[in-house]
Amino acid sequence: MTAKLIKGTEIREVILEEVKSGVEQIKEKHGVVPGLVTILVGENPASISYVTLKIKTAERLGFKEIQDSQPEDISEEDLLALVDKYNKDDAINGILVQLPLPKHINEKKVLNAIDPDKDVDGFHPVNVGRLMIGGDEVKFPPCTPAGIQEMIVRTGVETSGAEVVVVGRSNIVGKPIANMMLQKGPGANSTVTVVHTRTKDLEGHCKRADILIVAAGVPGLVKPEWIKPGACVIDVGVNRVGEKISEKTGKKIAILKGDVDFDEAKEIAGSITPVPGGVGPMTVTMLMVNTLKSLKFKLGIA
Ligand code: NAP
Repeated sequence: MTAKLIKGTEIREVILEEVKSGVEQIKEKHGVVPGLVTILVGENPASISYVTLKIKTAERLGFKEIQDSQPEDISEEDLLALVDKYNKDDAINGILVQLPLPKHINEKKVLNAIDPDKDVDGFHPVNVGRLMIGGDEVKFPPCTPAGIQEMIVRTGVETSGAEVVVVGRSNIVGKPIANMMLQKGPGANSTVTVVHTRTKDLEGHCKRADILIVAAGVPGLVKPEWIKPGACVIDVGVNRVGEKISEKTGKKIAILKGDVDFDEAKEIAGSITPVPGGVGPMTVTMLMVNTLKSLKFKLGIA
């Protein structure tokens, strides 16, 4: 059997078109567009490329976007004041502080200073609590888990009553996606197991999964024989396992591998995400969804 490929690159385009049309409708009716600010401290090349992608995507959708670049030596006090300025700015619906921050700044303090109603990353403790309660309480589900859930639902995989096994318990992927899948409601209602490094029988748990979500950061951790025939496999892992020369640009690029042995797993699974091109493109996409949602909440039309 060859699994259906769940392509994040294709699902992304469909969702971004939906967001774009949502922006156009609000602009026409209410005369406003979503505003997103990205605060970048210092010149870390990876951070610059992430921020550039977010800003370009926001621009393409017709958002008002601001990239606020600050020097590496900005004080914590000045950074907190900047966050406060955007908290009070009516034209801004989403605030992102690109991580990592320099060592002299307390990251937690800065992230917790963001107004929870503009925390489109969904990492503020208030939003984590809202996610836990579920239902109408949820404002901004964190972007990678939200992307995973969208992929499962849009592929037509039944989640209600499904055995979902999540490998990994991080605050950014494992815990929130486990929480989202067990909520009472559409795209969820699953029976969820979370496994980690202290789990006794990793293989046994994985073998039971109708939906297997792997976010460990260990290349090839999940063996093909651990996959239940026909299961939906979401491979969140992005592991650099070497370098190659790009045929397109002639430049050196990383060779990426997921946490699942893709070539063999695709012969057993019912559907599976590739790496790259699977979960990866969904994170920025869901950030745009959350920013539009933030404006809708403000206008009372969410
Ligand atoms: P993390 O914070 O390092 O957490 C990894 C989790 O996996 C931990 O809970 C760890 O267990 C568990 N784990 C590690 N090795 C294991 C093993 N051998 N057996 C069982 N469990 C194991 O990682 P993360 O931030 O969640 O990211 C996970 C992966 O997803 C990474 O490859 C990352 O690059 C990728 N990622 C991709 C996206 C995207 O595509 N948009 C977004 C976020 C992350 P313990 O808690 O017991 O240590």
